[in-house]
Amino acid sequence: MGCRTRVIGNNYDPSREIVTGRGNLSFTSINLPRLAIKSDHNVGLFFDKLDEMMDLAIDQLMHRFRIQCQKRVRNFPFLMGQGIWIDSDKLGPDDTIEEVLKHGTLSVGFIGLAETLKALIGAHHGESEEARELGLEIVGAMRKRLDEEAKRTGLNFSLLATPAEGLSGRFVRMDAKKYGIIEGVTDRDYYTNSFHVPVYYPISAFEKIKIEAPYHELTNAGHISYIELDGDPLENLNAFEKIVRCMKESGIGYGAINHPVDRDPCCGYTGIIGDVCPCCGRKEHSDNVAFDRIRRITGYLVGTLDRFNDGKRAEEHDRVKHNV
Ligand SMILES: [Zn+2]
Repeated sequence: MGCRTRVIGNNYDPSREIVTGRGNLSFTSINLPRLAIKSDHNVGLFFDKLDEMMDLAIDQLMHRFRIQCQKRVRNFPFLMGQGIWIDSDKLGPDDTIEEVLKHGTLSVGFIGLAETLKALIGAHHGESEEARELGLEIVGAMRKRLDEEAKRTGLNFSLLATPAEGLSGRFVRMDAKKYGIIEGVTDRDYYTNSFHVPVYYPISAFEKIKIEAPYHELTNAGHISYIELDGDPLENLNAFEKIVRCMKESGIGYGAINHPVDRDPCCGYTGIIGDVCPCCGRKEHSDNVAFDRIRRITGYLVGTLDRFNDGKRAEEHDRVKHNV
């Protein structure tokens, strides 16, 4: 799972709300746009379906948790045998690891809030105030259900803004086949990452931050917001700092500013390169060597998109830069 994973709160032992010796045990992501399509613009029906799906996801996480708990210390000679996980040093090789795993998190995630809102009311949260309110209501309901489950079981149930590295293309392919092409919902090769405003939607950096920030507090298993900048941030440090400050003031838990970074593998120059390297004057593809163009795909900084799936490649292609 991605860099956004957050394991801090500890419902099982509030005296140890720490990040070391613990981890996420498993997470299951809900295809929100499919629930919205099936609800046919009926918001009440959507919430009923969401409730049912939350129950199913929680059952499934519990089922998996019980299986994980039957394992013994000797099955994990490093994590448990060497005392890496909390309290595992107090166990013998034949003890089950149940007590240790109770410190881990069980998370439900979601994908495509933007497409969900489009399907339900015809606008996403970048486009209308009504969608902004409904979006927070949807994600707020998921968090509430998980908090109740955490209270009931004493375990660490939490809500994740899923990175959807693989799901991004997979769910929409299945839904387009089953329900056809629906404008703003199934008409692209990917569903939008978690609660993000769609990457193709033109919006200022500050507006995007203000819209996405409230979801950070709701998604206690992890989250991230991206701002896409054009050009070299070193040329405009003032704007860069303004964005970071706006993130902090708005309550962004984890923010990232993406900007192009190019590199000439021949002379080693790093910065923004057009057709010609400003350092050595070499042209792109002269000597059959291309410039590296580093881009961020979820948590990964990559020089080429070749190894990514179609969904993520299409998403990268659609990205617009955010004005400051
Ligand atoms: Zn060069």
